[in-house]
Amino acid sequence: KLYNQVQDLKGNIRVYCRVRPFLPGQSNRASTYDHIDDTSIKIITSSKYGKEGRKSFSFNKVFGPFSTQEEVFSDTQPLIRSVLDGYNVCIFAYGQTGSGKTFTMTGPRDITEESQGVNYRALSDLFLLSEQRKDTISYGISVQMLEIYNEQVRDLLSQNGINVPDANLVPVSSTSDVIYLMNLGHKNRSVSATAMNDRSSRSHSCLTVHVHGKDLTSGSILRGCMHLVDLAGSERVDKSEVTGDRLKEAQHINKSLSALGDVIASLAQKNSHVPYRNSKLTQLLQDSLGGQAKTLMFVHISPELEALGETLSTLKFAERVS
Ligand code: ADP
Ligand code: MG
Repeated sequence: KLYNQVQDLKGNIRVYCRVRPFLPGQSNRASTYDHIDDTSIKIITSSKYGKEGRKSFSFNKVFGPFSTQEEVFSDTQPLIRSVLDGYNVCIFAYGQTGSGKTFTMTGPRDITEESQGVNYRALSDLFLLSEQRKDTISYGISVQMLEIYNEQVRDLLSQNGINVPDANLVPVSSTSDVIYLMNLGHKNRSVSATAMNDRSSRSHSCLTVHVHGKDLTSGSILRGCMHLVDLAGSERVDKSEVTGDRLKEAQHINKSLSALGDVIASLAQKNSHVPYRNSKLTQLLQDSLGGQAKTLMFVHISPELEALGETLSTLKFAERVS
């Protein structure tokens, strides 16, 4: 409830920044930032000391390199819970390849309970809460998993590429159901990944959770929907160096990420025209972006100096949508 009041004051778009730690073997390296607090990060844009060499960025929340999956989830939980009250929610992971998008949404390669990302925790929490409310509301929860690659949508819960309206919508009633389906989805995704050389960083993947609730006293029905989106890597490729399929992929990614940025920026500015039609991604999510819907963008940055250029363009994207 409190969260909704806060949202009403601040609008329905929130942006959280998460900084990946250095990876094992990278210790004691210089990083691109020299200060992080709860809501801001100061990037070292040049080696000059003092103000000229620093640029500060502010967010609704900044998660430093030592933040845990649990901490990240606890700041996301109220938004997730609002799905059971009939809200539509979109949660995005944005950032260059290797910055930690999949870590936030799903977890590391070998997932433990502690390292589970937002999507597992979200589903567990929805099951828990719906169980607690079962005497007043009867809930049904089902999931879809889609991939958008080169502006084409593929159903990750079936073997065939098919149109979205027909995508499998699978009822789930426990965390183990969800783990089973997510594994299936990841397997279907990696089948094409081996054929096409790590396609996962060049496609968007979307776990959609549909909630149907029936109030047991009044009989009234509520519907909520949540999209958990692990976006394609935001890095710019050097057009002089790539050709053919790789160039086409890059152009599709570029187009859809800027279309997403345009949609969220125009919602943030409360523009009357919102350009949903410019990409598959924004078309797919149209009902869950804008209006009463709630949006959370996690922007991820890598700490390494080599990543400075991408880090600045990620933070610029974030500034525009917040
Ligand atoms: P992306 O999906 O953006 O390409 P990944 O999530 O695959 O990036 O992260 C790249 C690597 O960094 C992986 O080995 C991942 O486990 C690790 N990693 C990312 N974020 C964190 C974090 N917050 N803490 C520890 N390791 C992380
Ligand atoms: Mg990834």
